[in-house]
Amino acid sequence: MINRLEEYAHLVIEIGLNVQKGQIVIINSPVECAEFARLCVKAAYEVGAQQVVMNWRDDVVVREYWLHAADEVFDEVFPWEVQKNLALAKRGAARLSIAASNPENLKGVDPSRLARAGKAHGEANKEFTEMMMASEVPWCVASVPVPSWAKKVFPELSEQEAMDRLWDEIYKAIRIDDNGGAVDRWREHCRTLADRAHKLNDYAFKYLHYKNSLGTDLKVELPVGHIWEAGSERSKSGIEFVANIPTEEIFTAPRLDGINGIVYASKPLVIGGNIVDGFHLVLKAGKVVEAHAQVGEEFLKHELELDEGASHFGEVALVPFDSPISNSGVLFYNTLFDENASCHFAFGEAYPTCIRGGAEMDEEQRKAHGLNSSITHVDFMVGTSDLSIDGIKENGEIVPVFRNGNFAF
Ligand code: ZN
Ligand code: ZN
Repeated sequence: MINRLEEYAHLVIEIGLNVQKGQIVIINSPVECAEFARLCVKAAYEVGAQQVVMNWRDDVVVREYWLHAADEVFDEVFPWEVQKNLALAKRGAARLSIAASNPENLKGVDPSRLARAGKAHGEANKEFTEMMMASEVPWCVASVPVPSWAKKVFPELSEQEAMDRLWDEIYKAIRIDDNGGAVDRWREHCRTLADRAHKLNDYAFKYLHYKNSLGTDLKVELPVGHIWEAGSERSKSGIEFVANIPTEEIFTAPRLDGINGIVYASKPLVIGGNIVDGFHLVLKAGKVVEAHAQVGEEFLKHELELDEGASHFGEVALVPFDSPISNSGVLFYNTLFDENASCHFAFGEAYPTCIRGGAEMDEEQRKAHGLNSSITHVDFMVGTSDLSIDGIKENGEIVPVFRNGNFAF
């Protein structure tokens, strides 16, 4: 029997980042995930990484910081931290982030601290974030269970049972079983996603019309020259990489001023360590003009008010209701998994690569083409078993894109 954890480490290093000989690799990991992080370090050196730069974080330390650090620190970002990220990216370093934390780690933290720090970090790291969003270097987000998270997902189980169960669900979601071959399965999976993206690109829809029984009725205009992307992408230096493991989504950017109607979230969302649930947004000419949530409304509103672009959408993503993650029926309280179980939108920054020539455009040019820009990017889930989406072509022809939550073609 093969070791699933080792196979997972190879998957993120070889398919996720596709680490090249002589390349620097950065790994961001919670201390609780040290076993997996160490295997990733080994896998990176095995394929010839020049060196691995490790950044550890710890939920406990992070929570203490947010609760007890002096108030003025939340408006400041150390310039050398900004410099470190930027300098490594400019050297072409590949970046792995292991996303695992207590979904409620920041419960009780003053929301204005989070908002101020979000703004300070967003502004200070603007150049770096733009490099990542434009895929100048390969990056990958993957996840492993930690006890606090596992207990949130499976509150009825003991801690150990919850950890085992979450591991099983994650392995299923990332297509790892006891027989090996995950790397090849992923190549095949990426091809399937790419085929569907090609079809959508051929349709070149003018807009999409979403409807379901939650009350969603939303028209989403797509910019001229938009590109649907899926699975793997290519960095500026030509390295093929997979930014999210798992990934099931096919996504593009909407026109920032072309969305009208109402959209209901179908799953809760974690924003900076706080849960937002039961929410809907009303949009006019692309701008969110109303936002209501049954739980955590203030966190949603703070995020939508971070800057001008935060109240406009930057991503449209299609995920069949019958995707493996969705079929598991598990609510992960982790955007990496929940967004890949459901059609979603993001408010905030658009990926520049979602429009022809976008990676070479500056912010003003992208805006002129209808692409949103913001210091934030938050995915939220809207897919349901009865979601229908029509694609409307330039000549008025209507093509069924989704019926009953799944692709209609
Ligand atoms: Zn997405
Ligand atoms: Zn997104």
